[in-house]
Amino acid sequence: MAKIFCIANQKGGVGKTTTTVNLAASLASQKQRVLVVDLDPQGNASMGSGIEKMGLSQTVYHVLIGLADIKAVKLASETGGYDVLPANRDLAGAEVDLVEIERREERLKEALSPVLADYDFILIDCPPALSLLTLNGFCAANGVIVPMQCEYFALEGLSDLVNTIKQVHANFNPNLLIIGLLRVMFDPRTTLQQQVSDQLIEHFGDKVFKTIIPRNVRLAEAPSYGMPGVNFDKSSRGAQAYMEFGTEMIERIKTM
Ligand code: ATP
Ligand code: MG
Repeated sequence: MAKIFCIANQKGGVGKTTTTVNLAASLASQKQRVLVVDLDPQGNASMGSGIEKMGLSQTVYHVLIGLADIKAVKLASETGGYDVLPANRDLAGAEVDLVEIERREERLKEALSPVLADYDFILIDCPPALSLLTLNGFCAANGVIVPMQCEYFALEGLSDLVNTIKQVHANFNPNLLIIGLLRVMFDPRTTLQQQVSDQLIEHFGDKVFKTIIPRNVRLAEAPSYGMPGVNFDKSSRGAQAYMEFGTEMIERIKTM
């Protein structure tokens, strides 16, 4: 049975999609069966997995509103070694269309149930908002992985996210946990980043993943080739860090 994780942070541009596709590729190369759910109308996780989002007639949107079966919509990422439930701008309409639908926050959870036995990991790339789409992710998931940059306001932003997760835990999904905080785009030479990192560990203890993802230009270049950085340049420091993170996650789920 698949373990399901949201990669979420309502802040934009913090490395959610980069973490989703690279963790997926890392897990796939460690013999795990992985599905990436692109839950962002930007479609960046689809593009970064080598899937051309514009030409798609069916996407995660059609699955969410009940117009298509997940097994007919998912595609294989050749460059990533995992499957993708792709998204494009159609998904922007879901926020409105779902309002009319019963149990609108559980649409993704229901949609995933036929494929749970087919995967070890399902990774959901959330949009940068605490929206109905993200709520669908949280209702479907076992846990949340929070990528964050160690910057001055990072801790403040975290409290909104932590409160939302607590509310979802209380009202919708008693299984939901914060799995961990992942420090990304890290530059150890910056004193401030080091200080914020120390504060994080003080507040969150072993909820902070051991792996640290460095700022690495190869990770930023990879999406324009439709490839996860892990496969684009295996020898880069960024790729190696995400490979390590995959190993840490495989260890982590053994204790869940
Ligand atoms: P959004 O909120 O818009 O969905 P996001 O949280 O998914 O954004 P990404 O798209 O993963 O963030 O990353 C934002 C930008 O930072 C991208 O251009 C990406 O290539 C770059 N980036 C992410 N991680 C790293 C890293 N470790 N080193 C260098 N660049 C990175
Ligand atoms: Mg993104």
